[in-house]
Amino acid sequence: MLEAPRTLVGRELPLPDVGDDDALLRVEACGLCGTDHEQYTGVLPAGFAFVPGHEVVGVLEDVGAGAADRWGVGPGDRVAVEVFQSCRECPACRDGLYRRCQRHGMADMYGFIPVDKEPGLWGGYATHQYLSPDTMIHRVPDGLDPVVATLFNPLGAGLRWGVTVPGTAPGDVVAVLGPGIRGLSVVVAAKEAGAAFVMVTGRGPRDAARLALAARFGADLTVDAAEADPQAALRQACGRDADVVVDVTAKAPEALAQAVKLARSGGTVVVAGTRGSAETPGFWPDLLVFKELHLVGALGVDAPAYRAALDLLASGRHPFADLPRRVEPLEGLEDLVLTMAGEGGAPPPVHGVLVP
Ligand SMILES: [Zn+2]
Ligand SMILES: [Zn+2]
Repeated sequence: MLEAPRTLVGRELPLPDVGDDDALLRVEACGLCGTDHEQYTGVLPAGFAFVPGHEVVGVLEDVGAGAADRWGVGPGDRVAVEVFQSCRECPACRDGLYRRCQRHGMADMYGFIPVDKEPGLWGGYATHQYLSPDTMIHRVPDGLDPVVATLFNPLGAGLRWGVTVPGTAPGDVVAVLGPGIRGLSVVVAAKEAGAAFVMVTGRGPRDAARLALAARFGADLTVDAAEADPQAALRQACGRDADVVVDVTAKAPEALAQAVKLARSGGTVVVAGTRGSAETPGFWPDLLVFKELHLVGALGVDAPAYRAALDLLASGRHPFADLPRRVEPLEGLEDLVLTMAGEGGAPPPVHGVLVP
């Protein structure tokens, strides 16, 4: 339980009784992303105390008959849990835009809900997670390891942000800013969509190993933006600017200028990384006009992308099982979160996972 910034403590909560329309999950694995360490350090405002963890895979220990019927699952099934809940009734939910659900939305995401809301078990940093009637879950394909399956989250993002949102098509040139797990996932998604050429950029020695990894995941060109101009490198390698640019950087205010520069006239820039500031050094809005760019933000993932991600992981077509990964039990969780915040002795692992 995160009771205050940097105060992650072990607590016991009673397991709730399950009714007709809800369920109890035994957590097998919970992936960690940038959000986790921002919650921990307090960069991200949160309603303390709460159980963090929002990239959850587990087994249904108990599920009500109504919920089982609606979700198409039964006790013992392995499922992945979406971070957003859906009331299925409000206009946003009926339009399939349940990230904007009027009853839930961003204020009510798994891994963010205060423990004083019953039954308190609203996150994946736990042996068990409560699944409300409004939960969205997906069955994990047989044979897919639960630790690898937690990648349904970043890979779902890669598929939606890298292909669905920009409409990436066969033959496209794609530039990906940011070589983290979401950047790697965008590379895979773009290649699966038939992209002819994919470039990935990082910055500085910290990103060197990740850029090398991007090549293993299908990137045709990797560029250290601290050493070389990505646009010049892209033009030299494939003779033109990018049809699609996907920004999945974290806290890189200069990324927007870089993205707009890399896009061809009429191209699309997807902004999915957040910079945590209003500063956008070098960004020249007139380029949006002169190049007639499509500039689009992407928030979160949806059910079709999550399902496609789980299928793609189960296919074994890409080396996700071999990612540099650190897996910790609850006892090692705080050290893992610190390392992912860049405060540990070692560099952050590409994939950090809790196995409670
Ligand atoms: Zn996350
Ligand atoms: Zn709704």
